[in-house]
Amino acid sequence: RTCKGMAVTQTGCDLTYSRMRGLFAFLTAFIKDRKMGLNDFIQKLVSNPQICQHSDVRVFLQINENVLEGESDCDTSTPVSVSENNQILDSTTPLVMPSDFHYLKIIGKGNFGKVVLAKHKENGKYFAVKVLQKKMILKKKEQKHIMAERSVLLKNLKHPFLVGLHYSFQTTDRLFFVLDYVNGGELFYHLQRERIFLEPRARFYAAEIASALGYLHSLHIVYRDLKPENILLDLKGHVVLTDFGLCKEGLDPNGTTSTFCGTPEYLAPEVLQKQPYDRTVDWWCLGSVLYEMLYGLPPFYSRNTAEMYNNILNKPLQLKANISNSAQDVLEGLLQKDRRQRLGAKEDFLDLKFHAFFSPINWDDLMNKKIAPPFVPTVSGPTDLRHFDPEFTQLPVPSSLGKCDETLITSSIQEAAEAFPGFSYTSTIEDTYL
Ligand code: AMP
Repeated sequence: RTCKGMAVTQTGCDLTYSRMRGLFAFLTAFIKDRKMGLNDFIQKLVSNPQICQHSDVRVFLQINENVLEGESDCDTSTPVSVSENNQILDSTTPLVMPSDFHYLKIIGKGNFGKVVLAKHKENGKYFAVKVLQKKMILKKKEQKHIMAERSVLLKNLKHPFLVGLHYSFQTTDRLFFVLDYVNGGELFYHLQRERIFLEPRARFYAAEIASALGYLHSLHIVYRDLKPENILLDLKGHVVLTDFGLCKEGLDPNGTTSTFCGTPEYLAPEVLQKQPYDRTVDWWCLGSVLYEMLYGLPPFYSRNTAEMYNNILNKPLQLKANISNSAQDVLEGLLQKDRRQRLGAKEDFLDLKFHAFFSPINWDDLMNKKIAPPFVPTVSGPTDLRHFDPEFTQLPVPSSLGKCDETLITSSIQEAAEAFPGFSYTSTIEDTYL
């Protein structure tokens, strides 16, 4: 009986066991299927944030229209998606949040917010924290640019002359980018003090900028917004390009785009005319920077903006003979109104690399920072802000900055429910593949 009983039980167990296995297999397949579906859905959301506007998607994501309405002093943070070294942070990694930093001084102002010198409370490192107001961005309908800034920074860009991103996070009201702190001052702050640079010095800066632009182009990124205030010097006197807010991503090497952006002085003719433009726009801007370093004013300059635009489009470039022939030649090449004829149109950075003006440059040494900078900014330490405009450094630092991370939103669906789905959401996906 015992045996029989056992046999029966055994049979009963077998039955239950195989049924459970069947059920288990069914559930596993079902979950896998749903997971893939969700993954697909997330991929679509990420590649096309407009999908979030669709009413079904909004219901599914429970997007709360009021999320941006009330600005409180203490807003809600989402978790940080990237850490130093672009590591994805999971739920076990401590989150980086606004209160992890001491905010010391305002060091700059951009269109949508401030750049603040901050010290990490735990590791004592200094960073430049770029704080952007979502409200301002929404007002100016500039989300796309900011997304571009973040996704460009997140592309794991690593180049000796491009600013590095360490962390990024958002609160209900603000987006935060934690960047390398670069305190040698703006290149043009030094230019204004000295009026012009001699050729070797101008060549050094132009070469470092050109190598950074060439690197971005190799990743199909057009910087597009090369302007004086975005070219900084580090402690040792090397160039650091900041502000990726207007970078245009996703251009194939010969692709064009036609959004009107950029800074008035350095606008290339094709941008002014709202014609399609491509990576050669950056070589025009580099030509403008080099011209300004050598002559003390931007090319085609006029105090009357309309006249300046007219000059950019129609006036032939006139170069005074007080610079070398190779300098004149490189400027004529870079400031060529027809972008197809411009220096850089054929082989991009290589066209510049092998131009006579740059022949004194050993490009390997340049990339390895082995060329001694021609000028070393005098800075006594990280808190020495002598190269920053007192107009900013005297401004009070808003005390609300470091106090806004009490309530954490931890669900990624809730992250998506933010008005900036691409901001932390894109990164979560992108970082997974970094
Ligand atoms: P942006 O909004 O990037 O144009 O920054 C505005 C100003 O803040 C710049 O012109 C710089 O003077 C300053 N700034 C921006 N990024 C940094 C940085 N990483 N380190 C130091 N200063 C910066």
